[in-house]
Amino acid sequence: MVEIEVIQGDITKLKVDAIVNAANRSLLGGGGVDGAIHRAAGPELRKACIPFGGCETGEARITPGFRLLSKFVIHTPGPVYIDGLHDEPELLRNCYLNSMDLAEKNGCESIAFSAISTGVYGYPKKAATEIAVETVSKFPCQSVKKVIFCCFGDEMLKIYQEVLAGK
Ligand code: ADP
Repeated sequence: MVEIEVIQGDITKLKVDAIVNAANRSLLGGGGVDGAIHRAAGPELRKACIPFGGCETGEARITPGFRLLSKFVIHTPGPVYIDGLHDEPELLRNCYLNSMDLAEKNGCESIAFSAISTGVYGYPKKAATEIAVETVSKFPCQSVKKVIFCCFGDEMLKIYQEVLAGK
């Protein structure tokens, strides 16, 4: 079974095989964790994303990590939360599934997720966390041995700890 770890910190500082970026559909950088990842990886990251010509919500793309300590960046645009009746849960689940899939296909052993859609995109934090934990826990991992949920701030950390404890 895959090992799941929850930490609080800046995902750009992690030395793992892949970090998962809560991107937007342009894949060309934005605010929040996306901006932080692009700044830390350097301008090569944006250049590597241009040929994708964007990415649909729930899909994922992989690039090198360039100046980051992580080997790869997996970019996945999460859903903008409207009211929960616009396929948001399914789209968010797809973000986690497609990211895990790319990590597996690229032989990653460790992967760190940011809390996709829980910032500017406004997904209710507990509901998003339940989807993240459930989807990753049930994923049939082969090469991936360790999944890190990287929380930014105490509130998110507490929510992940509660959901993992089954509360
Ligand atoms: P989205 O548009 O998908 O909501 P955001 O970047 O606004 O993406 O937020 C996603 C999550 O990433 C939020 O929980 C936010 O607190 C967190 N976050 C922001 N900066 C970082 C960082 N450097 N490392 C890890 N998580 C971060």
